[in-house]
Amino acid sequence: MLVAGNWKMNTDRTSAVQLARDVVGAVGDVTGVQVAVCPPAVSLDAVFEVLHGSSVRLGAQNMHYEDHGAFTGEISAGMLRSVGCHYVILGHSERRQYFGETDVSVNKKVKKAREYKLVPILCVGETLAQRDAGEENAVVQTQVEKGLAGVEIRDPGEVVLAYEPVWAIGTGRTATPAQAQAMHAFIRGLLINMYGEKVGFAMQILYGGSVKPGNAADLFAQPDVDGGLIGGASLNAADFGAIVEAAVAAS
Ligand code: PEP
Repeated sequence: MLVAGNWKMNTDRTSAVQLARDVVGAVGDVTGVQVAVCPPAVSLDAVFEVLHGSSVRLGAQNMHYEDHGAFTGEISAGMLRSVGCHYVILGHSERRQYFGETDVSVNKKVKKAREYKLVPILCVGETLAQRDAGEENAVVQTQVEKGLAGVEIRDPGEVVLAYEPVWAIGTGRTATPAQAQAMHAFIRGLLINMYGEKVGFAMQILYGGSVKPGNAADLFAQPDVDGGLIGGASLNAADFGAIVEAAVAAS
């Protein structure tokens, strides 16, 4: 199980350091479950100092697919490595929706992240209109297959998937455990097709979309739900800690 907090565009350097301290205080010695926080880029190095020596890992929320160069405002995989990142969230629906990211650009990012030994948390998920039209499996299949096209995975820990139905992100509307399990099992099948039984079976598939202390246990009890990508609730260390505890109890 992995529980990762996506802080999005919240916190400044001071409050990020404080939140990281609170998270370490709440879950810094947890064993049996992997924990990560993904603060805004300006606070990555400061948060890394706080996490150092704890079991909580650092992740970024995005990166560019080139090594370096004239890409004003962008951040490279090497830069993320240099401030201690282990994970990088890629293809989040907010990036696809507001910043024009496509399966092609996300795929380039996944490949570059792997080149720098970062673990991508590749986000996939359908919109409400796509689900209402019965297209959710086709949409997610395209995102998984195009996002991972040409990406070699030998060790299941090299890439993490996150299923985040767009209609559940920040809306307070969570997928039911059965809806989450059905899609996770579908994604599991795709990964087994692409990488074989051994690797596909062991890759982590996180659920994301309004996970809270009150619904985490039921979601994590599903056989193909290997943890969560947590947005809003990760900004409160007690709530995030309770979600991590639910993962510990389920693992
Ligand atoms: C997210 O943005 O990855 C997310 C899951 O957000 P929330 O938990 O707030 O729905």
